[in-house]
Amino acid sequence: MFVPLARPDLTDLEKQYVLEVLDSGQLSFGEKLGRFEDAFRQQLQIPHAVAMNSGTSALHVAVKALGLKSGDEVITTPYSFIASSNCLLFEGAVPVFVDIDPHTLNMDTRQIESVITPRTKAILAVHVFGQTCQMDELMRIARKHNLHVIEDACEALGAEWKGKQAGTFGDAGVFAFYANKQVTTGEGGILVTQRKDVANAAYGLRNQGRAPEDGWLEHTQVGYNYRMSDLQAAVGVAQMERLSELLRKREEKAERYKELLREYQVPVTLPQALEECKISWFVFVVILPENADQAGVIRFLHDKGIQSKPYFPAIHLQPCYRKQFFFEAGAFPVTERMAKRTIAIPFHTQLTEEEQRYVIGQLAVALQKG
Ligand SMILES: *Cc1c(COP(=O)(O)O)cnc(C)c1O
Repeated sequence: MFVPLARPDLTDLEKQYVLEVLDSGQLSFGEKLGRFEDAFRQQLQIPHAVAMNSGTSALHVAVKALGLKSGDEVITTPYSFIASSNCLLFEGAVPVFVDIDPHTLNMDTRQIESVITPRTKAILAVHVFGQTCQMDELMRIARKHNLHVIEDACEALGAEWKGKQAGTFGDAGVFAFYANKQVTTGEGGILVTQRKDVANAAYGLRNQGRAPEDGWLEHTQVGYNYRMSDLQAAVGVAQMERLSELLRKREEKAERYKELLREYQVPVTLPQALEECKISWFVFVVILPENADQAGVIRFLHDKGIQSKPYFPAIHLQPCYRKQFFFEAGAFPVTERMAKRTIAIPFHTQLTEEEQRYVIGQLAVALQKG
């Protein structure tokens, strides 16, 4: 049996919309792009949504649209996909990491105030694995110290904090649509915001710096080509129409994994969402016992045809960060300890019960051997 880590959920609806774009002859800035952005405005009840060609592009645009620049300090987490921190480096801003909470694996908001300096300009919050950060605390600190908030909600479409959706709290929220996300467009991202000025800046930056009143070959500022094509948007429109189905299926698979972990008495724990948080399942990450051999478990599963990955390695220990900021092991002990223990196992909407049983059964064997 081969069980892949992730797999997109695509139907005739996605195909139909893509064919409509091909037949229309308009492959960029067509009807589907507008519909995709509208779907986000509606889903999140937010006035502005600007689609782009990746989550990383949308994060970069958020950083630029908020005017963050060289030397500005931005407080963020070292336990994330590297793009949430790289987007700061693109503009010369400095990521100031705070360690994570060992239960939620999100930035420990209680540590934020201790690293604020006169150069601190923003907090970049990541809702890791579809669980929101402690948003009351985070927003209170941001207001008190007059800091911008960017939410990297790339893993959290549909997640909520006290009934309010992830991505709608800050000055800008970003979602991503790589093939393993809750909603995919192949590649893609979107910036959402309550702020008209941020939205206008984003429209310009994604489109070669053209201001709304500029002609096609007029450029008010230096921008990028971060546009999403209508072929991608077409897939996204179909996926957004199917959003509740996609999220429900993910939740069902997650619940079944939990049952199987109990049934097989596998000695792992799961990240724990705060009580006020409604999780949107993005990946299924298990926390191995303290001294388990993470690489050994991954290798064992691989030999059984089961894909898994260390999720996430600590950002500050990546070679490019060590080189630029001279980070050493031990700088963020909780992140490092959890990074050695967390692995993502196969997770997508189409997992069969047989596959899930096989994965958990083999995980149990792998851990008995260690
Ligand atoms: C997926 C993801 C992104 C964006 O990734 P892209 O591949 O550029 O779309 C950013 N941050 C986090 C936390 C992510 O999981």
